[in-house]
Amino acid sequence: MQLNPNVIKEDFPLFKKHTSLAFLDNASTTQKPQCVIDKVNEYYNEYNSNVHRGIYQIGEKATYEYESVRGKLLQLVSANDNYSAIYTSGTTESLNLLAHSLSKLVLKVGDEILITEMEHHSNIVPWQIACEKYGCTLKYIPITEKGEWDISQIDSLITQKTKIVSMIHQSNVFGTINPVKKITELAKAVGAKVILDSAQSIPHGNVNIVDLNCDFLVFSGHKMLGPTGVGILIGKTEILNMMPPFMGGGEMIYTVSMESSTWNEVPWKFEAGTPNIAQVIGLGAAIDYLNNIGMDNIHAYEKKILAIAEKKLSQVPGLKIFGNPQKKGTVISFELDGIHPHDLAQILDEHNVAVRAGHHCAQPIMNKLNVPATIRASFYIYNSEKDINQLVNGLNSALKFFSIQ
Ligand code: PLP
Repeated sequence: MQLNPNVIKEDFPLFKKHTSLAFLDNASTTQKPQCVIDKVNEYYNEYNSNVHRGIYQIGEKATYEYESVRGKLLQLVSANDNYSAIYTSGTTESLNLLAHSLSKLVLKVGDEILITEMEHHSNIVPWQIACEKYGCTLKYIPITEKGEWDISQIDSLITQKTKIVSMIHQSNVFGTINPVKKITELAKAVGAKVILDSAQSIPHGNVNIVDLNCDFLVFSGHKMLGPTGVGILIGKTEILNMMPPFMGGGEMIYTVSMESSTWNEVPWKFEAGTPNIAQVIGLGAAIDYLNNIGMDNIHAYEKKILAIAEKKLSQVPGLKIFGNPQKKGTVISFELDGIHPHDLAQILDEHNVAVRAGHHCAQPIMNKLNVPATIRASFYIYNSEKDINQLVNGLNSALKFFSIQ
């Protein structure tokens, strides 16, 4: 089935209010279809209650709806029985959970953690904190001008000391789809645990956790049409069972005495306190919506829209696209000669084009590129060629404006 962005757009109430908006900041967050908003409202209107507690009908309904999303998430990544799904508040919390609990399980003084120069800050800072805490060294796979990993020195980066490898699946700056399988193989050969930051890959195509053979995979609901405030950590149950809890409180315990406590089973051991119930339930509706379109169809459409966008942008005088990776998703970072990205974003806004200007929470990349910021246009299923034309017109107007100044 060919995906039609104009038909899809009809499902999103925000575009009924902002009829001429070209929303091109999808790597940051996506818009929400009516079915997701309805599902969240249904919870509050019809069965609002806490989960796992009320022995009454609406409490049981809430628990059922909340728990059933775990199965949808596991199915989405083709997980087998070896994996469990844990709800968090976002990719950031999922990575912090791992940096806390996995680090406590596997790290000792002198060990090494390997990440890459392409990471989002949420996959850098938690490991810097863990390294400081446990006396470990943080190593980085460097990146090339093309916006790809330079793995020519990988043998010196993955050693017997490497205990954790945490890497970005698809770049939020260059769009690069990284060769994570190759690195996972090398990491597994030295017994390291492997984490994939799939915040930018899960919404855009089929991701198979068994095929990728990683131990943990993390992503955010709001980047895949779901509500904000819900994230996911899918991990090998065997390792999760051995990991100590992240936060303490209600729900994550089995027994509590004045002296000590015992822990609930996985996944609840990692879900302290009242969770984001409405958000989890809303995410379930987002997964149904995406499955209905088909992740293969989404991937095929995005390839098409990316090719059109790159072609049209390359015809804008003075426009430089950062990175040129072989395998790439629908993210384009660029600059327009002589115009500061923040000024450019403001002019584009006047043309009803929403793009992101900044360091995209990836300052090591900006340092490598020797720029303070870039403009980033990122596309999703409701974006059409019309949005690309609007972006290009906005850029040409900016050029005119600055040449007159
Ligand atoms: N990792 C990547 C690759 C991202 O692009 C983002 C957000 O842009 C994050 C992690 C953090 O996600 P969140 O802010 O939803 O926790």
